[in-house]
Amino acid sequence: MKPALEFCPSCKCVLLEDRKKKVLLCRKCGFQKPLGSSESQRFVESIEKPRETVIVKDTTKGDDRTLPITKAECPKCGNTKAYYWMMQTRSADEASTRFYQCTKCKHTWREYE
Ligand SMILES: [Zn+2]
Ligand SMILES: [Zn+2]
Repeated sequence: MKPALEFCPSCKCVLLEDRKKKVLLCRKCGFQKPLGSSESQRFVESIEKPRETVIVKDTTKGDDRTLPITKAECPKCGNTKAYYWMMQTRSADEASTRFYQCTKCKHTWREYE
């Protein structure tokens, strides 16, 4: 896409793009305008950076197939393997808590320090 032409505000000449200096330049009077402030430039930027899609996995809904398994003893049945995941509790500056779910009886508990 060709950016729209911009004109010098004092002598109405077409401004030329100087990519090295990142300016739009008027050859006649020496007027300079920084590149990137025009609408066309902003439009190019916005299509080049698509919005990041953040997939938040809801670990509370019992879909444990993708969770990693670690060695942890189930307090209920004594099984030594459990799925685990981290979860941020309360405020963001608090350390996240590790949760376990027994691979056998599906009992869920959290790690206490
Ligand atoms: Zn000019
Ligand atoms: Zn268990």
